[in-house]
Amino acid sequence: MYNMNYSELIAIDKHHIWHPYSSINSPVTPELISRADGVYLHTHDGKQIIDGMSSWWSAIHGYNHSTLNNAATEQLNNMSHVMFGGLTHRPAIELAAKILDIVPQNLRHIFYSDSGSVSVEVAMKMAVQYWYSKNQASKHRFATMRGGYHGDTWHAMSVCDPENGMHNIFSDSLPQQFFVPRPQSLFGGTWHSEDIDAVHELFKKHHTEIAAFILEPIVQGAGGMYFYHRQFLVELRTLCNEFNILLIADEIATGFGRTGKMFACEHANIEPDILCMGKSITGGYMSFAATVCTTKIAQTISDNAPGVFMHGPTFMGNPLACAVASANISLLCNSEWQDTIALLEQQLQTELSPLESHSAVHKVRVLGAIGVVEMKEAVDMKKIQPLFVKHGVWIRPFGKLIYTMPAYIMNSSELHNLCEGIKQTIHEVYGK
Ligand SMILES: *Cc1c(COP(=O)(O)O)cnc(C)c1O
Repeated sequence: MYNMNYSELIAIDKHHIWHPYSSINSPVTPELISRADGVYLHTHDGKQIIDGMSSWWSAIHGYNHSTLNNAATEQLNNMSHVMFGGLTHRPAIELAAKILDIVPQNLRHIFYSDSGSVSVEVAMKMAVQYWYSKNQASKHRFATMRGGYHGDTWHAMSVCDPENGMHNIFSDSLPQQFFVPRPQSLFGGTWHSEDIDAVHELFKKHHTEIAAFILEPIVQGAGGMYFYHRQFLVELRTLCNEFNILLIADEIATGFGRTGKMFACEHANIEPDILCMGKSITGGYMSFAATVCTTKIAQTISDNAPGVFMHGPTFMGNPLACAVASANISLLCNSEWQDTIALLEQQLQTELSPLESHSAVHKVRVLGAIGVVEMKEAVDMKKIQPLFVKHGVWIRPFGKLIYTMPAYIMNSSELHNLCEGIKQTIHEVYGK
């Protein structure tokens, strides 16, 4: 029972365990991973594959990192958890100090939670409670743009792209939010001023109902790996001020250097009113997230009945996660991360852009340590997934998108092998 062989393990997995967005009829057998180290995943049968996904944006320093391991073990030997109601501890406080150092300087109050989706729920509740505290309870709806992704919990789901998202299944029970088209102006390209018009129209008509505009700054991740123009954020910030609408930046995927800035908002030099971070906050060690807000929001909520912010998860401020997150942020800040990411960006660009001439490829785009190969048609997962592994890489496409966001510690020969694995797989599936 406790020493199951490969086929026994896979049989239980296949028949009894849900995976992300999975079906119990799935024809794709998941890889059984026994160990992860640096940029490599080790499969049960001794294959060593380069991880191009950083476990969904999170393992920025790679796996089994001695500094993070030590932070975890030290904290584990001290206390892995105590409740956060009425108690506090050094790991939560030290982490707060580090977060305050790196976020936009208007954001001074931190709410810890257990996952990205929950940090988005917290942000949305903060926005609603802020307007409630100001006697403007009619401002309880949200605006966002199409193509976004903010998590799988209920209200987070309501601001995900209505077509890619799960709106058609859940539409009768989801709160109805306001959607504007995503900007057509691309990152680094020309700004088309009409891209902001829909926001302006929406705010003029509905500002008395809208608590906040929520979006992923610069990079839309799971909604389509789309990089848009910084000016959109600049103009959005101005309109939010003008119409008394809060701005929530969901930096869960973009935070901690991924786009070349510590937070993607910095590309536009804007300060959001609320910012969510998650994914890479613990370097991929465990689930943890934070929502950071302005003093104005924290003070308004605290000054008015009920006088407390109404949220408090059981594992809030988990010391183990805080200790690892602290070590993770120090590792990042004490490294030459801007240079590292610029090099990754350059190499991704050089190695992936030749794919653009392939007949099955629509477009290649790169920003920071993110490389995207957009195909013309949706990829056949059953066919392509095992081929990536055969070519020594771990890539998990969705829809038409084959993409990678390597760990920052990936060296140039590893990144070369990763890009080669992507190219060889595309050639094997679609021809040269
Ligand atoms: C992944 C993600 C989330 C959800 O985070 P979970 O930890 O999966 O709940 C929310 N927003 C963005 C932008 C994300 O990339």
